[in-house]
Parts: sequence; C-alpha cells; structure tokens
Amino acid sequence: MGLIGGADLWRIHRAIQSLAMSGSGSRRSSIRCRANRAPAGIPTAFIRLTGCPLRCRYCDTEYAFHGGRQMPIADILVEIEKFGARYVCVTGGEPLAQPNCLNLLSRLADSGFRVSLETSGALDISDVDDRVTIVMDIKTPASGELDRNRWENLERLKPEDQIKFVVCDRQDYEWARGVLSEHDLTRRVSVLFSPAWGQGIDRPLAEWILEDRLEVRFQMQLHKILWGETPGH
Ligand code: SF4
Repeated sequence: MGLIGGADLWRIHRAIQSLAMSGSGSRRSSIRCRANRAPAGIPTAFIRLTGCPLRCRYCDTEYAFHGGRQMPIADILVEIEKFGARYVCVTGGEPLAQPNCLNLLSRLADSGFRVSLETSGALDISDVDDRVTIVMDIKTPASGELDRNRWENLERLKPEDQIKFVVCDRQDYEWARGVLSEHDLTRRVSVLFSPAWGQGIDRPLAEWILEDRLEVRFQMQLHKILWGETPGH
C-alpha cells in the first residue's frame, strides 16, 4: 500500500496533544499541561495515515480506515514545516500498517522534529527509529481486540516511550491494573489511562486511579473537549 517513498495519508493538521493529569498518589492532583518527555498540551503537527487492521468497538477514527490521498514523503515534510511546530505525531488508523511509515518517521527525525508514533500495539515496533517516542496501546477486553496485543513489543519499549490503556468500564480498569502489576510497567515506561469517550467513566476512572494510588497518567482527549467529534482533530 502507498507510493514508493510515500504514504497513504488521511490528513495533516495541527492540534494540541492530549491533556494529562498527574495521578501519583495525591488525592488533590491537578490537571496541568506538561512540557517534559510527555508532550501533552504542546502544539503538535499530526500526520494521520490511512488504514487499520483492527476494529476496536470504541474507535473514533473509522473515517481513516479508507480514503485519503497518496503523498510522497518529501511533500509531507514540506507541509509539516509550514506549521512551525517542533513536535510531530504520526497517527492513524494504525500507521505501521503502511511499511513506508518507518521511512517517514526517520525522515522526520532527520529533519530535527521531536517525533512520536501512536500505534495500536498489534504490529511489530522493533524497526521503529530509536529517536521516535512510541505511544503504544494495550487493548483491553472491552475493545474487542484483546487477542491482537503483541506482548513481545513490551520488551522493545524505551524508558521514554508510553503505554496507553483506553478504559471502557470497571472490568477494563481491573484488567489493566493487573497487567501493570504483572509486567511491572510503571517502573519501565510512562503509563496512560484514558477513559473511552462517551462511556461516562471519566470521573470514576480518575477516582479509581486516586483510590488505588496508581502511578499512571489520567489522559483526557483534549482535542475532543475543545473541538468535539469533528473528524480530523
Ligand atoms: S487501533 Fe485505533 S484506529 Fe484502529 S480500530 Fe482501534 S481505535 Fe480505531
């Protein structure tokens, strides 16, 4: 799929990275923008690649499964430069479903951008450029894609990478908490717990995290709070 040296591209746009809440034991943790290795709150240019082999029940980017346009990587770089952002996130769909995604990531890093990759955790991450921060999902039971988790990816994550659980209900939360413990994840990488959109568990999830004193970040989808369900944000 895709051009030689290019990518099937759903959209390039600029947004603000999701909002994270510190949840490290304080019952009065505040919501704040961060400016360290987790670029939450920082203006970021997004490159959304077309296609995904998964079908999560809560998926909010089904529009990216098909369509878009093919674009050479050199042209993508030109478009990204126009935003003037230092941070670039390559997302999907599942970006790694396109082999040229690996070239795109390296070319972005070569150009001096701080690059992140959002991936489902279902595909091999071992050939991703080491300069790229990986934000990898672990699919929970309620996603309907539990069997797609590629557990060997955990061994390939760097300390600066992140793991994200999209939590739909209390059962998902307890399952995710068990995975944290089983793999000692919070000592190895940053862990994000994000409430599935529209499930009514934003506040309960925050309270469960605080009650259990989990060292995870509570992550809201800031782009949806700001811009709603409009595709592309
Ligand atoms: S991996 Fe992401 S893009 Fe693919 S179906 Fe799941 S939520 Fe949607």
